[in-house]
Amino acid sequence: MHAARNVSLCTKDCVCLFVCPSGATDTETGQIDESKCIMGCRLCVDACPSHAIYLVSDTYPEPKPKPDSLRKALFRLAATKSEAEAVSRVLAVTADTSGARRLARALELSNRLMTEDCLREAGYLLPQSKAVKKLLKAAIDSASGGFPLEAAERLLELL
Ligand code: SF4
Ligand code: SF4
Repeated sequence: MHAARNVSLCTKDCVCLFVCPSGATDTETGQIDESKCIMGCRLCVDACPSHAIYLVSDTYPEPKPKPDSLRKALFRLAATKSEAEAVSRVLAVTADTSGARRLARALELSNRLMTEDCLREAGYLLPQSKAVKKLLKAAIDSASGGFPLEAAERLLELL
């Protein structure tokens, strides 16, 4: 376990700087230095008056495979949301009033998030998942013209 800080909750009163025995909380970026965090002793978590610090696991269990019926249902739902996103994207430019265009843009973004959620739930897009690495490797191996090979290889390198 190691500590992480939600910078949007941090009020910068610096209590965590005084309690941390290793100086992990004192960084220029506002993020806690994971390499200095001593096994998640949680002194900073308990001390933070804004509840801005939480502990994060160093390892994650492999996601359990989803039944095929569920994955298919999620893919169908993702496809619907993706279509709704495409329609909203057009309306965000072509709608008559600025209010309608803003609403369409919000719907576009919300449908994008729901599509991603569906795919994630179906077992993809989890960075720690072996499925993502397998998917990327397969995509790279079978890549043809136009495929963003360099981006896929870089992503695989980072995971
Ligand atoms: S104690 Fe909490 S609110 Fe204060 S600086 Fe640390 S993280 Fe931010
Ligand atoms: S969990 Fe302990 S070592 Fe890690 S940042 Fe918080 S106080 Fe420092």
